[in-house]
Amino acid sequence: MNKRDYYEVLGVSKTASKEEIKKAYRKLSKQFHPDINKEADASEKFQEVKDAYEVLSDEQKRAQYDQYGHEDPNQGFGGFGGGAEGFGFEDIFSTFFGGGTRRRDPNAPRKGEDLQYSMTIDFMDAVFGKETEVEIPKEETCDTCDGSGAKPGTKKKTCPYCEGTGQLNVTQDTPFGRMVNRRACQHCEGTGQIIEEKCQTCKGAGKVRKVKKIKVSIPAGVDDGQQLRVNGQGAPGYNGGPPGDLYVVFRVKPHKEFQREGDDIYLELSVTYPQAALGDDIEVSTVHGKVKLKIPAGTQSGARFRLKGKGVQNVHGYGTGDQHVIIRVKTPTKLNEKQRQLLREFAEISGDIPEEQGSSLFDKIKRTIKGD
Ligand SMILES: [Zn+2]
Ligand SMILES: [Zn+2]
Repeated sequence: MNKRDYYEVLGVSKTASKEEIKKAYRKLSKQFHPDINKEADASEKFQEVKDAYEVLSDEQKRAQYDQYGHEDPNQGFGGFGGGAEGFGFEDIFSTFFGGGTRRRDPNAPRKGEDLQYSMTIDFMDAVFGKETEVEIPKEETCDTCDGSGAKPGTKKKTCPYCEGTGQLNVTQDTPFGRMVNRRACQHCEGTGQIIEEKCQTCKGAGKVRKVKKIKVSIPAGVDDGQQLRVNGQGAPGYNGGPPGDLYVVFRVKPHKEFQREGDDIYLELSVTYPQAALGDDIEVSTVHGKVKLKIPAGTQSGARFRLKGKGVQNVHGYGTGDQHVIIRVKTPTKLNEKQRQLLREFAEISGDIPEEQGSSLFDKIKRTIKGD
């Protein structure tokens, strides 16, 4: 099925501000909300609006969408993630009906939260990838009570306030008339059940904090700020639901020689004046080792040479970048008497010294030659 353009769905321009996007979303989600709109395709449209908002309200996802459209070139790897969802169904209801919280069945299995972990890695490990391990503090299901929070051998009892539904009815006056709104029962925190005797290990939480070692393979070609999803290594699920995912965000340390831009590497290379003037075969460092580079005679400072394929392998497998070598011609600073003399002779023979500076330099040269 062809997806409609997200900007078109929300009826906003490509340059719309966050505020405009939010406003459009609020308006359209009310218009198509299946509880209000009884047209046959309302829920489909509502979902479309929701999907568009989820992407356009998140700066990272929006940038990705602007670049790639509906195709996700990252297949789970890259800009997406972090678990920060845009405000969804429940939030509209609270702004809409004034503060009430709508909840799904609180005892239904739910996926755990996603976690984010920032990992600083060496430049070369980012280029070539590496198998490594991280230690992250995270919550795990409590083994003693198997996540129930109740002391082993004891049972939870039905909450007497909400009779096990986890919700209490609240009557409210709204612009749509008097409405019965439901909100989570505060006595059982919406679970419908009360723990009589708490598990001693987790104090009734059903979860314990542990430091866990997790294997992470740094993908070859990963760049600073990119992230990797490690399936199932997020926070544990609720009520037997699946765990969330772990997002590892890579921070790549700078290299003392190489600069990286995307898949290309930049290297500044100093050569001497004679090398630049006469040309030379020189050795250049690349991330793949030393290679020979021919500097032609008459090379200027700032000249660039491209070493094809000597950059970084693309993280998504789209080829390999190049290395760009930028030449810097070194001006000698410590000259001995012989070198100085030869340079003066060189300048004299060339005779291409600018007029104004030249006169004084020539005076000096004449004085040196005469020996006064
Ligand atoms: Zn426990
Ligand atoms: Zn209750």
